[in-house]
Amino acid sequence: MCIFCKIINNEIPSNIILENEEFMAFHDINPKAPIHVLAIPKTHVDSFNEVSPQTMEGMTKFMQDVAKEMGIDKSGYRVITNVGDNGGQEVKHLHFHIVGGAKLAWSHLSDADPMGKF
Ligand code: 5GP
Ligand code: ZN
Repeated sequence: MCIFCKIINNEIPSNIILENEEFMAFHDINPKAPIHVLAIPKTHVDSFNEVSPQTMEGMTKFMQDVAKEMGIDKSGYRVITNVGDNGGQEVKHLHFHIVGGAKLAWSHLSDADPMGKF
């Protein structure tokens, strides 16, 4: 069972922000911003590549609710999902990073350096 499925099953503790039958949101263990939340479906899906449009419909509303719950819906935030090796996906259970609470730099995406090395 993957690490996020263990979190869903309460086998690994997490700091839950919001949850319903289908989705769960909890604080990232290694936050990259003042607010760094992970939103996941409770049914295991490997990545964005495999998720159904139907699941994304519910996920969209859920993430909007998480942003409101964290009080960042007005100030702004970023939603990120990493896919596969080049995307830097470490946990192979679909998750969306919801990051905010400060003015975010774009520069941490520059490590891809699309105009330089490649
Ligand atoms: P990825 O690199 O796959 O897009 O992101 C995985 C994220 O999961 C990382 O930001 C990492 O800090 C977070 N993470 C990994 N293990 C745990 C855990 O056991 N608990 C929590 N809350 N976050 C985790
Ligand atoms: Zn899983």
